[in-house]
Amino acid sequence: SVTRKPLIAGNWKMNLDHLQAVAFVQKLHWTLKDAGHEHDTVEVAVFPPFTDIRTVQTLIDADKIPFALGGQDLSTKDSGAYTGEISGAFLKKLDAGYVIIGHSERREYHHESDADVAAKVQAALRHDLVPVICVGETLEQREESGPTAVSVEQLKVALEGVPADADVVVAYEPVWAIGTGQVASPEQAQEVCSALRAVVAASLGDEAAARTRILYGGSVKSGNIASFMREPDVDGALVGGASLIAEEFAAIVRYQK
Ligand code: PEP
Repeated sequence: SVTRKPLIAGNWKMNLDHLQAVAFVQKLHWTLKDAGHEHDTVEVAVFPPFTDIRTVQTLIDADKIPFALGGQDLSTKDSGAYTGEISGAFLKKLDAGYVIIGHSERREYHHESDADVAAKVQAALRHDLVPVICVGETLEQREESGPTAVSVEQLKVALEGVPADADVVVAYEPVWAIGTGQVASPEQAQEVCSALRAVVAASLGDEAAARTRILYGGSVKSGNIASFMREPDVDGALVGGASLIAEEFAAIVRYQK
């Protein structure tokens, strides 16, 4: 859309240690710079593993690299006896602007429920982090209840108690398209993203719906990104596999070229 700044977000998952992260971020930065990329046109965000965030923060700060930074998850709690957990306060101290919440891999392997996701959204907002709320259906759920029902319900719960002026990002990630190479069609992405915008409108109001960015995620590559970005309710992409290859991710960021 013309009013919403596109966001291209790279979810590294459990890839790239802190030394590899430095090499990768430098390569991505120089690839974009060499291509003459204008950073005000598209926002770029990277989501490294927790152990890389300090290193990446130091690098982007020192070299004035215009990438936003985020965590891949956070605790529902702010501090205390929660072994292994990472607080939103810690992420904020490292200049993270974003945090991914409710990724399908967290929902599946860590049994995160819609209620857990909602509690994490509240934790993110308490620390002034923009939650990137992931929703999406499995193939079985799509066959059973249609394309929109599961994502709509997941987002409704996630937005309970969220104030109308809160900054949130929504990512529609059909589970059957994540890491499978089986990409959704732009029409399928648009159908669900439009339904999700209606949920934002119902939960937070029309103004929030007009400014909230809704991303598509699931096997996004440089060859298919432009077709998604042409859809009126798709404002960017959450990219997994292709976010780990600097030239490929740079080409996704430069989808307009
Ligand atoms: C993701 O995990 O957020 C994702 C979209 O992965 P991939 O791009 O590899 O399908």
